[in-house]
Amino acid sequence: MPVDAASPAVFTYYMELRKDPITRSWVMTGDDPAGGAPRPETACRFCPDSPEATQVISAIPSAAGWSARSMVHPTPLYHIEGEPGRRGDGIYDRMSSVGAHEVLVENPRHDRQLWQASDDEIGMFLRLAAERILDLKRDPRIKYVSLYKDYGPNAGQEFSHPTSQITATMFVPRRVLYELRAGREYFVQKERCVFCDILAQEERQASRVIEGRGDYVALGPYAPRVPYETWIMPRNHEASFERTGLSKPGLRTNLAALVRRTLQRIRTVTEGFHLVLHTSPNSLHPSKTLGYWKTIDEDYHWHIEIMPVLAAKARSYTFKEVYYSPVSSETAVKQLREAKIDG
Ligand SMILES: [Zn+2]
Ligand SMILES: [Zn+2]
Ligand SMILES: [Zn+2]
Repeated sequence: MPVDAASPAVFTYYMELRKDPITRSWVMTGDDPAGGAPRPETACRFCPDSPEATQVISAIPSAAGWSARSMVHPTPLYHIEGEPGRRGDGIYDRMSSVGAHEVLVENPRHDRQLWQASDDEIGMFLRLAAERILDLKRDPRIKYVSLYKDYGPNAGQEFSHPTSQITATMFVPRRVLYELRAGREYFVQKERCVFCDILAQEERQASRVIEGRGDYVALGPYAPRVPYETWIMPRNHEASFERTGLSKPGLRTNLAALVRRTLQRIRTVTEGFHLVLHTSPNSLHPSKTLGYWKTIDEDYHWHIEIMPVLAAKARSYTFKEVYYSPVSSETAVKQLREAKIDG
């Protein structure tokens, strides 16, 4: 595929998923003419009555109309139409980026971020998130649903309106896959959930617990990947966020308060952060080939991970659930081969 800046019209747009045969993680790569850069925003697409609004998928109603709603992502990474066409290529595996990509509007107000919202508003957003995850899991092709929020210019924030995003994929993102495998191995050895054991020890030692709120705890992990990394976990064992999120509104209020208070704490240290929910994969449609689905309700424990972005303190780290590389290796190699070098 030639890179010809002079004639962008003939440029082929083609992103696909490729599996790294060593780590078994999927990456999204291809030649994206926009280079993966956020598209410029004109009028806010997510304010109520926006002329540029995309299709609304579902909404949590309120007296004012809606309190949180889910919309089609204006430039989705995953598309619901089409066939994944998973195929081999020698030792390699590839498939099309079939799935779903939604924007969850956390609040109708453009200037009301999660940490400024009321616990009731955050609770509505959490309910919407749980509903969307459950709904997307009804599609038997979907293996995993990710919920994440990137905030701040150094965190890859895409929209100025208070939003999170959801991707539904036909594979489990690598970080979650590592956790699932580790959870299963621990369970095989000890017949206990590793996350429950971590929580029990942290609550006993109390040196890394930030705050407990009802059924939820915010803590700093023993081996943080970045400074001020924070996890929010339910005290009682539960593999699936969406089950808790839908069944117990009282629990949701405590979770909402803890999310709000924890983000406020983190924002005293730095503006930007990544937030990601880790919940169980699609066990409504268990995979026959993957054994961890059998014990998933016992050995996995949902949680929220918050990774603050400290430009000065974190020299190099990667926080990516799925790598996204908008230049394919084929194009990159062609360019590097033809590069003028000194000899
Ligand atoms: Zn807005
Ligand atoms: Zn547990
Ligand atoms: Zn996790």
